[in-house]
Amino acid sequence: MKELWSERCRGLTPYIPGEQPKDGGHYIKLNTNENPYPPSPMAVKAIREAAGDGSLRLYPDPACTQLRRAIAQSLDVRPEQVFVGNGSDEVLSLAFPAFFDPDRPIRFADVTYSFYPVFADFYGIPYEEIPLDENFSLPVEPFLAPCGGVVLANPNAPTGRELDETALRAIIEAHSDRVVLVDEAYIDFGAYSAVKLVSRYPNLLVVRTLSKGRSLAGLRVGFAIGGEGLIAALNTVKDSFNSYPVDRLAQAGAIGAIEDVAYFQCTANKIITTRAYTANELERMGFHVCDSAANFLFVSHDKVPAKKLLDGLRERGILVRWWNKPRISNYLRITIGTDEEMKTLCAVLRELLREDLS
Ligand code: PMP
Repeated sequence: MKELWSERCRGLTPYIPGEQPKDGGHYIKLNTNENPYPPSPMAVKAIREAAGDGSLRLYPDPACTQLRRAIAQSLDVRPEQVFVGNGSDEVLSLAFPAFFDPDRPIRFADVTYSFYPVFADFYGIPYEEIPLDENFSLPVEPFLAPCGGVVLANPNAPTGRELDETALRAIIEAHSDRVVLVDEAYIDFGAYSAVKLVSRYPNLLVVRTLSKGRSLAGLRVGFAIGGEGLIAALNTVKDSFNSYPVDRLAQAGAIGAIEDVAYFQCTANKIITTRAYTANELERMGFHVCDSAANFLFVSHDKVPAKKLLDGLRERGILVRWWNKPRISNYLRITIGTDEEMKTLCAVLRELLREDLS
């Protein structure tokens, strides 16, 4: 079957996205960190208008000029410091070849977003995986020695733990000649954002998404904030690959979502409140719950294996995420849903624990 594949393609180990059920079942879906609330009505209205005005016959603006302006205004940076892509995965996939070289290993944590090693392997960029501490906090020291670049998720995934300003600045300052990429996919739920540091550090690139905080995982819009030099590199790689990655509907909807600040704040706050409630309930059941600044919790139970809970939850219609990987195979990552969904989750978990421990 693979005889027509290139040698390179045969050697690839792709990223495995979380399950999107296709069996028509009604699941409580807590496995891919989607937002449980619908997108802003302003985003939906903007998409409808863009779909109805006949303009879809035309290519979209390859530079996403209006959207970049809206993002820049919302984050108090200049439009020239903004790059937009088809989801932050695409922005990351362009950033790796834009900033990292095959002759110098880059560094990221051993427990972090599992797409980083996939991108690195795809582009032939060597990497060192720095072990997180026992409680999954990031040790700063091993990230300071010279290397080809650093990739940090803040808050980290799948742990939810955040890095503070001091740690971030120490790492950025230690690599003034290389790019430090901070992936802020989950920044909208309370962690310190490095966007404030972009004007000070020309080697800092912050990557964000509208998939989580803005409830737009289905629209595919992500962006990067960085100095003009870094943004020019991203545009160079993008225009060597696909000039129009962000379609007209996505550009329109993203502007609507960015401009509806009140809706965003309201839904993000609800998730933060539900996160605190859920963490508390899970701790009362005997779960160890990592401190989380994200829209998910990373949890383990001493008495019942995570895989068993994963299967038990699935049988009862609740999807969560589990990885069969060193260090984390006894953990589940549970996305924060609505209050009602989390109450159901907690009731089912109590039942599963009772069955298993009795
Ligand atoms: N970074 C991290 C840490 C993530 O968990 C995700 C979501 N899987 C992404 C980036 C990509 O998100 P998106 O492509 O939807 O913007």
